[in-house]
Amino acid sequence: MTFSVHGLAVSRGVAIGRAVIVAASRIDVAHYLIAPEEAEAELDRLRRARTVVADDIARVQRTLGELGSHDAHPELSALLDVHLMLLQDEQLTGGVKHWVVERHYNAEWALTTQLEVISRQFDEMEDPYLRERKADLEQVVDRLLRVMRGESASMTTTAAADAARKGNEDPLVLIAHDLSPADMLQFKQSVFAGFVTDVGGKTSHTAIVARSMDIPAVVGARSASHLIRQDDWVVIDGDAGVVVVDPSPIVLAEYGFKQRQVEMEREKLSRLKNTPAVTLDGQKIELLANIEQPEDTVAALKAGAMGVGLFRSEFLFMGRSGQLPDEEEQYQAYRRAIEGMQGLPVTIRTVDVGADKPLDRGAPRSDDHLNPALGLRAIRWSLADPAMFLVQLRAILRAAAHGPVNLLIPMLAHGSEIRQALALVERAREQLAVAGVPYGPVKLGAMIEVPAAALTIPLFLRHFDFLSIGTNDLIQYTLAIDRADEAVSHLYDPLHPAVLQLVASTIAQAHAMGKEVSVCGEMAGDVTLTRLLLGMGLRSFSMHPSQILAVKQQILRSDTSKLAGWAQEVLAADEPAARLVD
Ligand code: PEP
Ligand code: MG
Repeated sequence: MTFSVHGLAVSRGVAIGRAVIVAASRIDVAHYLIAPEEAEAELDRLRRARTVVADDIARVQRTLGELGSHDAHPELSALLDVHLMLLQDEQLTGGVKHWVVERHYNAEWALTTQLEVISRQFDEMEDPYLRERKADLEQVVDRLLRVMRGESASMTTTAAADAARKGNEDPLVLIAHDLSPADMLQFKQSVFAGFVTDVGGKTSHTAIVARSMDIPAVVGARSASHLIRQDDWVVIDGDAGVVVVDPSPIVLAEYGFKQRQVEMEREKLSRLKNTPAVTLDGQKIELLANIEQPEDTVAALKAGAMGVGLFRSEFLFMGRSGQLPDEEEQYQAYRRAIEGMQGLPVTIRTVDVGADKPLDRGAPRSDDHLNPALGLRAIRWSLADPAMFLVQLRAILRAAAHGPVNLLIPMLAHGSEIRQALALVERAREQLAVAGVPYGPVKLGAMIEVPAAALTIPLFLRHFDFLSIGTNDLIQYTLAIDRADEAVSHLYDPLHPAVLQLVASTIAQAHAMGKEVSVCGEMAGDVTLTRLLLGMGLRSFSMHPSQILAVKQQILRSDTSKLAGWAQEVLAADEPAARLVD
């Protein structure tokens, strides 16, 4: 039966495919695809975990026996028997094997998927006793996952993803309760044609990575992962934020048509790649790329980016079971990005973990804290561990010997943070000089993403060569809206007059001091805002490569001499959004 689920449109286009469900677990597990030849090793991990859990249960049973407590605790004894039985249950073990061997899921993912399948069957049972066994099964699976936690997880490779596709020619779409940015990164080179998650906001990092992959995505679709079943046919309409499940042939044909139109539009835009981004009145506009990995520079150049305006370096730090990359590994990664850009500038942002970007699935998540977005993230995290920060700074400075580099510091708010961060940059230089290690010059920049920073721009301009406005966080902190929380996403408003005033005054003050300023938040890639930002005087935009050509098209049609006055009117309006469509 056809039905639809509504969420937030975060990445444009239409995807049609069979659903692959990433089941929610009480334990945060890794989801990645393995190579077919790894299946046996993956099943071995499971067998070992099963032996550990079974031994553990047997040990408790023995203890009960020695204490003569079997009779005193008959329920406990019976429960342990049930757990042992479930552990060996053919439906669990056989099902898990299926997901590992046929679908190439990693063991943890296979376990949680099979748990979901069996849980549904339990839910449908008449007998209340049997229905309650679902909780036991969940406990058994949780125990297995806990035992397996800590074993290193291999990263998805394109080869593995391609292999996963073999024997399953239908396109696949991913449906999950939630995906961490690290999960998204692992899926980046993968086979999925689209994503749907129950939770998340428009500028949550999961949504941002989906956009960078240029595949249709809907987040905040509430109960999608419960309503949609494994292998259901699904249409993801990333423009409307709608997910159609089990579509009728007519609906399918309609979306097929839309899909082809999107393709044609892309084709048309691709012709703009080598056209300079110059407005009708001759203003040159700098279009830069936001990247998460050195390999993204390929897409950046393909889209005609004039450099990297934001390399979110924290993606190098995620999903590594707490093992941070050492100086050499970071240096090599930054160097790859710099060389990848073939002489164009690369802006490397120092690590910004915390809030909705936990360092590691296994590590305590930042949302264990009451207000993760207000907690120890970005520069606060770096200054809390100067030795770790120095490793990153040295790696960036060394990489700067291979091409033009801008070093960007996130989330600064206090003068003391500016002083400490800059002193550490200086110390890193000294350390390299003393050790005789070559390094290059860098321009120093600050992200303006906290209202406190936007209201003290002269302080920042005294210390930095350039500014980069992080509108995703600036909106979050100005409006007190958690950018990752779909429950308040309707209040997340880039066009709120307070946000626009902070953005406009930052641009104006930077230009008045002759310093460069760009916007690297999602506002920069939103074609409905291009004219307004041009009117505010912005001449440098940084966005995902997939958005560059559409923004360039807007620029080619704009006349900044006419936009400045209009932008002032929009800024002064009570309802700027209404003026935007004038
Ligand atoms: C921003 O906050 O606008 C930004 C670009 O940084 P991030 O999205 O990584 O927080
Ligand atoms: Mg930010």
